[in-house]
Amino acid sequence: MENLKYHKILILYILIIAAGLIVGSISFCSFSYLDNDILKIPPESFSDGKNDLSYRMLKNTSLDSMVFRAYVSEVKLKSIGDDNYALLVYGLNCQAYGIYFNNTFLGSVGDMKTARSNIWNSMNCFFIDKNMVQQDNELRIEMNSLYDIGLSSMPIYIVDISNLNKQLGRTKFFTEGINLISIGLTIFSSIIVFLLFWISTPRNTSYLYFSAALFFLAIFTLDYTTFYSLPFSYFTYKKLIFLALYLSVAAASMGIYKFFHHKTDMIIAIVTIVGIIFFEIVSKDMITFKNIYNYYNVIIIINILSWLHTTYKNLKKSEEAKMFFIGNILFLLFAALDVYRTISGHAFNLSTLFIYAFIFSMISIILFFSEHLNKEKQLYSVNIERKKSYEASITDGMTELYNRAYMTDMMKKATPPYSVVMLDIDNLKKVNDSFGHRYGDAVICHVASNLKKNIRSNDLTFRYGGDEFFAILFGCTAESAKKTMMTVVDSIEANCLEVDGQAIPVTLSGGVYYVGKWEDTKSIFDKVDSSLYHSKNKGKNEISIYISG
Ligand code: GH3
Ligand code: MG
Repeated sequence: MENLKYHKILILYILIIAAGLIVGSISFCSFSYLDNDILKIPPESFSDGKNDLSYRMLKNTSLDSMVFRAYVSEVKLKSIGDDNYALLVYGLNCQAYGIYFNNTFLGSVGDMKTARSNIWNSMNCFFIDKNMVQQDNELRIEMNSLYDIGLSSMPIYIVDISNLNKQLGRTKFFTEGINLISIGLTIFSSIIVFLLFWISTPRNTSYLYFSAALFFLAIFTLDYTTFYSLPFSYFTYKKLIFLALYLSVAAASMGIYKFFHHKTDMIIAIVTIVGIIFFEIVSKDMITFKNIYNYYNVIIIINILSWLHTTYKNLKKSEEAKMFFIGNILFLLFAALDVYRTISGHAFNLSTLFIYAFIFSMISIILFFSEHLNKEKQLYSVNIERKKSYEASITDGMTELYNRAYMTDMMKKATPPYSVVMLDIDNLKKVNDSFGHRYGDAVICHVASNLKKNIRSNDLTFRYGGDEFFAILFGCTAESAKKTMMTVVDSIEANCLEVDGQAIPVTLSGGVYYVGKWEDTKSIFDKVDSSLYHSKNKGKNEISIYISG
């Protein structure tokens, strides 16, 4: 994580928020500034005799049908066109509703009998035949509600049929589409963080908790998903949804605890879980549940404050803390905005859920990639270390030529044709005796560097031992190998070593053997060694080519 600096995290968040704002503003525009061809029927236009159709939580849980009426004049309808019309209904909070136009049934959504439906986040379309239009028209909505009631996002729209596709396309994406993206994002992040847990060594359980938190969050997003017919009561459905929300928050707290080891986070996580399970058990009806839920919301804020506190304390120690900290601040800001909008009477909140889902998902994805990058980096340095120690194992420390072990290895792998050369410094003992061992070493190094300098880069040179050297010259005939060795000898002479102004005489004896086809290594050594021996016998300072027989 060292490479994940503040500014990078900030840029990431800014990008996320910018994307959110762009989507949000397009969505806002598509709701608020639609063409003039649209007739908006706001919630205030409806009445059931007591209340209008503005969003509110219900105070009782009876399934009595409520009937709301609004009136639309023919003149107004004609102002948007004189074809057939379509009614667009979105964000109508109830369990089921049926729509009537001048007592003609246009259609219904949800299950009116059992109320086992979650339909508020569905965009629905009903058609009005132009022949049904009278001078004054009654729009009647019959609805069953258990939890809340009213229009929470937009007025009911009436559009001329020719405009329907355009309007339906925009609004459907920004309502139902965004929900699907949220579910996808949380499930994707949950899997990705689980993988993070899987690949971490040693296994980092905090990732497992974060993965669980995201998984529960994905379940919570089902609150935004349309179910026309639930397999159980709406009450059970709501209980499951909110259980998932609190489990998500608690799992996130546990994850933070496992990451930063602040006991408060764990205690808060346990309180959250025990509390929600207790409340789920004691709330036997929707009213108790709603009341408890409203108050219990505070625990979410406490969890977030605890994350904020822990990550703040660890800001200097870890990059992850920075990322969580900035994410938490953003989350709190949006939550505060949500609270403000709720208090100031806006039914439609900014969907803290989405912000939570987006921020949490982004944190997880960034965590995944930075962890992955870290692993790559570690692997890279391990490889470099391995390479270094391998190089050391095949190199002679003093001359930096390859060593004898590597030579044996390479001789087994070399494919003919090639020539081998064995060199031995003449009278090194004398140098040692007259000038000292240090100068003897210098002579060995001098020969080695001249040898290396004068052969091609794909040829190989080795220190065979003591004052002996070995070379493999690929694709070289014996004559050209000898020629190369003569240039080495000349170069040694030209760069003569001096001690106290006195030149140290360095001559070499060598043997060359040409390997034309595959041959046993021992036999090659014997032959090249015998030609070296031949040079020494002839009086040294000579390079001899092996002659068979
Ligand atoms: P010759 O011409 O027959 O090769 O005589 P020589 O004196 O070079 O003796 P030989 O090659 O038989 O023996 C190698 C000598 O080189 C033995 C030892 O004194 C010296 N020698 C071997 N390794 C080193 C080394 O690492 N440093 C130094 N300074 N001398 C070494
Ligand atoms: Mg020697």
